[in-house]
Amino acid sequence: MRNHAGWGEIEHALGAVERESLASLLKIALGARPTYREASPLSAARMPPSRLSHLPTPLAAIAADDPLARALHSYGRSFPELVRARTGDFSDAVDCVLFPGSEAEVAEVLDFAARSGAVVVPYGGGSSVVGGIGPVPRHEYQLVLALDTARLSGVADLDVLSQTARLGAGLLGPALEDALRPHGLTLRHFPQSFEFSSLGGWIATRSGGHYAVGTTHIEDFVAAVTAVAPSGVLRTYPLPASGAGPALERLFAGSEGAFGVITEATMKLAPRPEYRASASVVFATLEAALAGLAALVRSRLNPSNCRVLDENESLRSGMTPKVRMLLAFESPNVSVDGLLAVGLALLADHGGMREDDTGGGGRNLAGERWRSSFIRAPYFADAIIGMGLVVETFETAVSYAGFGTLDREVRAAIARVLAARGARAMVSCRVTHAYSDGLAPYYTVVATPGSVSPVAFWTELKEAVTQSFVDSGGAVTHHHGVGRYHRAAFEESIGERGRAALWVLRRHFDPQGVMNPGVLLG
Ligand SMILES: Cc1cc2nc3c(=O)[nH]c(=O)nc-3n(C[C@H](O)[C@H](O)[C@H](O)COP(=O)(O)OP(=O)(O)OC[C@H]3O[C@@H](n4cnc5c(N)ncnc54)[C@H](O)[C@@H]3O)c2cc1C
Repeated sequence: MRNHAGWGEIEHALGAVERESLASLLKIALGARPTYREASPLSAARMPPSRLSHLPTPLAAIAADDPLARALHSYGRSFPELVRARTGDFSDAVDCVLFPGSEAEVAEVLDFAARSGAVVVPYGGGSSVVGGIGPVPRHEYQLVLALDTARLSGVADLDVLSQTARLGAGLLGPALEDALRPHGLTLRHFPQSFEFSSLGGWIATRSGGHYAVGTTHIEDFVAAVTAVAPSGVLRTYPLPASGAGPALERLFAGSEGAFGVITEATMKLAPRPEYRASASVVFATLEAALAGLAALVRSRLNPSNCRVLDENESLRSGMTPKVRMLLAFESPNVSVDGLLAVGLALLADHGGMREDDTGGGGRNLAGERWRSSFIRAPYFADAIIGMGLVVETFETAVSYAGFGTLDREVRAAIARVLAARGARAMVSCRVTHAYSDGLAPYYTVVATPGSVSPVAFWTELKEAVTQSFVDSGGAVTHHHGVGRYHRAAFEESIGERGRAALWVLRRHFDPQGVMNPGVLLG
């Protein structure tokens, strides 16, 4: 049972015992013991009735307007949306949800929307944290329809020799991997939201998987894409590479539902890894760890993971508070023990010491603790929100040379908001992705809201941190996307010419303005 006011499935939410120990930890970090309040049940939701009076017969068969369907499709999983959902505020609920199962049905939905003055929000897994799904201000539109891609879930043209497959955009992570597993293949794209996010959503937001080096953004695995826009279908053809003109298959990468609906994509796959080796390495300082990280990425040893955690991030993940790198190698056909040994030697040159944390059985306990806390983290975030606190993650990308300044600016921006509101926070940082020229730092802030409401505090914090990224030469976002929350910073960052070019594309694909209003462009 999906949780209408939280992450994932209700049965996996934190129980009373886990919440108690979380409250004790938060008391140490934030100075006062928070009290948990249950989310408002769906039966008490304040949700206006659907304004949709009639649907043509073929669409009526694929529509749902019951409260659960509308609630699940009205919000993504960002902090302010979860607060609204938890308090039963569904005043901006979509009017109806449609579940097309083919290109033709998608076209019919878009056609109906254009005829009836509706806007359409494509919905994959609904895991957007940037306001990509909603809330769409209901009073501004005659009708708001969610188009759920769940039935666009086919697997076709699976080419084991070339290692590609044509995959339905609505496939969620687990179903997609289940389809590839019997063929010894994997897409190897594992965002933290893997369980509840879709291939189409990943492409539409240029998501980043959590193998943290090399090609991690989803668009690098797209060989071809099919998208249905209000003005027609864009279909590109799979080729291993091409030098012919601008890459049209990339037009819909990062389009965030504003141009049309991605219905399927031919994806470049990989053989499943059979050999793995991993270790955790501790450093005296974050600077030393980052120097080791840069050397490792440039060494072409090609680790499958080299995630760096600061002290607080280690602590949050159930480990001793040390700067750590979680290092891993994998291969489908050869042992990687030798690569691990070389990687460890290279890190030792930067002061990195392999942690003696094997539990006696050759395991990598730090890696295991990290993984389980990583998977459970969104459920913990729900409980933190239920305790009246603010929890948010901020991610960007910056050059190695620019990291020091950016890190100082981010921490100063957070400190200013805390001081202005008399609030307290625990701030942690990890490096989620590494490149030869820079890295993607990812900050998690858990805070008391001080003198203002949690949502008001979140708004001030979000603005301050996003501005600090831009001011210190960082990306507006590394992998969460633009949505509605990053729109202003994104528009500023691409300049007038960039905005004009995107508007031309948007009007070309969607001349009547049916698609997901308010994302990417104002
Ligand atoms: C706990 C948590 C962890 C996360 N971890 C990561 C992470 O590790 N890496 C990462 O990159 N992101 C992460 N995210 C953000 C989010 O999961 C990604 O942006 C993801 O790619 C969204 O996929 P989705 O299917 O849920 O899309 P949705 O949330 O349904 O939609 C996102 C946007 O894409 C559009 N869209 C969706 N499907 C289509 C389609 N078929 N055609 C056109 N437009 C479409 C929507 O209209 C919307 O604008 C995380 C989010 C949460 C809540």
